[in-house]
This record gives sequence, C-alpha cells and structure tokens, in this order.
Amino acid sequence: MFIETRGNDGIKPKEVNFSEAILYPNASFGGLYVPKSIPKFNEDFLKKAKNLTYKEVALEVLKLFKIDIKESVLKEALNLYDEFDNPNSPAPLVKIGENCLVNELYHGPTRAFKDMALQPFGNILSHLAKHRSENYLILAATSGDTGPATLESFSDKPNIKVVCLYPDGGTSDVQRLQMTTAGGKNLKVFGIHGNFDDAQQALKELLNKDEFHKKLKEVDINLSAANSVNFGRIIFQTIYHIYAYVQALKMGEISSEEKVYFTIPSGNFGNALGAYYAKKMGLPIEKILIASNINNILTQLFTTGIYDLRDRELLKTTSPAMDILISSNVERLLYDLFGSKRTKELMESLKKERFYTLNKEELSALQESFDAVYSDDDFGKEIMSEYALKGYILDPHTATCFKVKELNLKPLKNIFCATAEWTKFAPTLFSALQKSKTSHSDKVALEGVSNALKIPIPSQIKNLFSKEIIHDSVIDKKEIESEILKFLKDER
Ligand SMILES: *Cc1c(COP(=O)(O)O)cnc(C)c1O
Repeated sequence: MFIETRGNDGIKPKEVNFSEAILYPNASFGGLYVPKSIPKFNEDFLKKAKNLTYKEVALEVLKLFKIDIKESVLKEALNLYDEFDNPNSPAPLVKIGENCLVNELYHGPTRAFKDMALQPFGNILSHLAKHRSENYLILAATSGDTGPATLESFSDKPNIKVVCLYPDGGTSDVQRLQMTTAGGKNLKVFGIHGNFDDAQQALKELLNKDEFHKKLKEVDINLSAANSVNFGRIIFQTIYHIYAYVQALKMGEISSEEKVYFTIPSGNFGNALGAYYAKKMGLPIEKILIASNINNILTQLFTTGIYDLRDRELLKTTSPAMDILISSNVERLLYDLFGSKRTKELMESLKKERFYTLNKEELSALQESFDAVYSDDDFGKEIMSEYALKGYILDPHTATCFKVKELNLKPLKNIFCATAEWTKFAPTLFSALQKSKTSHSDKVALEGVSNALKIPIPSQIKNLFSKEIIHDSVIDKKEIESEILKFLKDER
C-alpha cells in the first residue's frame, strides 16, 4: 500500500493501492505517494538474478512490491523493452575505465533514460484507464526529455489524453521537435514562457486545484501526471540500478556483495531516488553520488543540509534536463528518513520562507547514503572531447558524473548513469570536439559529429527534421488552464 509524504488530511483515503497512487498522484497537503514499506531482497536474489534477462529481473522486483497489477499486464508492459536497440539488453553496462562502468539508459525510442520508465508506465496506466472505462488527462511538465517520452508512450492510446508543457527556449532543437511533431490525435503540446520550474509549478497547482478537477469531471475526465511525482515511474527507475549491479556481476567486474558507487546526473531526483530505494532493498551500494550542473541546489543540500531558493535564479546550461531548482523527489527521501510530520514542516518552510535547514543529525543521516558534486559547462565539454578521442561518446548530462573524481572516494567500482544519447545535444558535443565557442544548429552539429567520429545518427533523430510541425503554440502560464480545457472540448 501507498501512503502520503505530508500525512493525511482526513479527506483522502489513509492509504491507497498502486493503481490509485498512479492514477491520482496528488496526495494530501500537496504531498506525494510513497510505498508504506520498501521490500527487501532475500539473500540469493542477486545471485539468481545473474541468470535472468532484464525483463525477468524487472518482473521479480515488481513482484516484491506486491502491486495490484496482474502479472499478464506487467509482462505486456515490460515487452516494450523489446523495441529498444538491443531487446536482450535494453540498458547495457559498458566499462570505460579501471573502476568506471557506464549504465547506458538511453537506448529507447526517444534517446533518453525517461523511456526506461515511461514506456512500461504508459502501458500500465492506459491499461488501467481502459479496464475501468475511465478517461484520463495526463499532464507532463518537461525540461526536455520527459515530454517526448510521455508523448511517445501514450500516443493514440485509448482513454488517455496528454498535455505536455515545455519551457520555450529551454530545450534543444531535437527535444523540441520530438514534441512539436508528435502526431497522436490525443496529444497536445504547449511551449510556456518561463523555465522548467514554472512549468512544473503550474502542473502541480493544477493537480491540486479542486475547481480544475471539477471542470474536467464535467467533460468526464480524470487528472493524472507523468512527471516523476508519479510513483509509477520511480518503481521502474529502481529496477535498472539493480540490473546494472547484476550485469557488473555477470561481467566479473565485481564479486557478490561487493559494494559499488552509483553516480547520477540529477534534476528532479527521480533517478537518484530509484537508486536509494534499490539500496534499501539490499543492493550493495556504498553511496549514491549526485552530480549537478551550476544549478547546484542538490550539491548544497547534501553537503550543507540547507535547501535555499532565496537569491537563486535558474541558470541555463548545456545540460538543460538538469536546469531545475525545485527538485520534487527530494521530498520522498525526506519522508523516508524523517517521517511525514517533519517532511510537511520542511516543505511548508520551503514554500513560505523559500528555504529549509536540516539539523546536524538529519544532515548526517542524508550523508550516510549520499554525496554530491557539481560542474560547469566547460568541465563537461572537456570531458566530452577527452572521451570522444578515447572512443567513448557522452552527452553533457552524463559528463557531469566525472566530477566525482574530486570526491574522497574509496577504491570501489563506480557505475555512472548515462541519461541521454549525444544526439539530443549534438551542438554541445560538436563545439567540444572543435574546441570552439561557435554554436551550430542541432541539424548541422549532428552531421558534423557523425562525420567527425564516423558514427551514425539514429533514424528516430534523423527523421525529425523532415516531419511536419503540429504543435506550434507558445503560451503564458496563466493561459494554461483555459488552453487545456479548450483542447479537451475541441477534441470531443
Ligand atoms: C531527466 C533527466 C535528468 C534528471 O533526472 P531526474 O530523475 O529528474 O533527476 C538528467 N539527465 C537527462 C538527460 C534527463 O533527461
């Protein structure tokens, strides 16, 4: 069962099952749903997992959570991994240095790690909607990768409509085209004047606005969300960390029970939270290392215990999926460590005072499982060009992982999460290779990199540039609600 991070308001049910938590992700007082308890592996789970495929391990992990979804439905959802580059290995683990392994999570249809969760999640959610004969509006706010992955996952699915909000000018050309050319009849995409935090804030407000729910009810529609505020994504983001460890075992890189670091380029903290849950389940993780760009609010939190939005402005970087200051899933970690009363207090302080401070004991509790670093765009470019010369290609988000070498780490294996393919951010890689500051369009840069490094551009990316633009509206935050209602009415 699932309970709420900020406690119960006496109106919502005290606990809900998995289906309810993913269909109606807004919990009391603006909180989030979390599992009542995190299951643990039994002793030989990992040993046995060595002989299983990704999909089989995924199913075993899902069974441990005892969610109310039939096995046949789960299996069908997991079959979507067959569409990834290599059906037997949707998220390959690649050794790139003595102690360094990269978990490539971007081999799905939209070339970022969001597909790992959104593919099966979308399938399960639309199955539930159809099964209950209910209609759902899925809202997604995106910093660039959740949007495409959500649209791809729900395109033309019965009983589902999707509205996707992206910050205009805050994404790469490829990311924008992946959204604005999305053809499904049930999809609507809006650019927003503002940044990702503005888009996500607008989404959270709509999710918690009774009046909006009522208006949707009038047209027979329920409201849900595809951001990582939805636990349905987090559960799938726990699995690939477990499987990365299993792959390292299979490769003989580690022996059983050997501890490893996980390094995770982070923004909304969903990916890192998945690793934290994996650790709680019993995966031998020494620490989870949080990599950020100069929007280093998480570095500050994990090194000082202070989450401070005062005097901060969101800065644009070459790793836009991490240009986030309001990192939603930290709340689930706070809940896990300090309980709902304290979480509510901290989140209310963040809303009212724009900051909160953990006490000394709380900070040490955080640091038992985490450490954090950040780096700037120049560091990322240096790493990208250095590794391209060595024959390994990185995107700017994944490049932030390399900063952890400056931490005082034990000599353990370190698994870096590669969160996107270079093709989504080709201009940055191209200028890194050319050691120049000239910026090229995505199209020119894709061809430039492809020629320079003799690597192909995957068809999913190449075809984007000749597709028709279907969604060209850019709107103000205050227009979001009325535009959504207009879309839903026009559709009928
Ligand atoms: C979404 C995203 C991130 C941040 O992941 P969170 O789970 O939000 O912390 C990092 N890199 C890329 C490429 C992404 O798309």
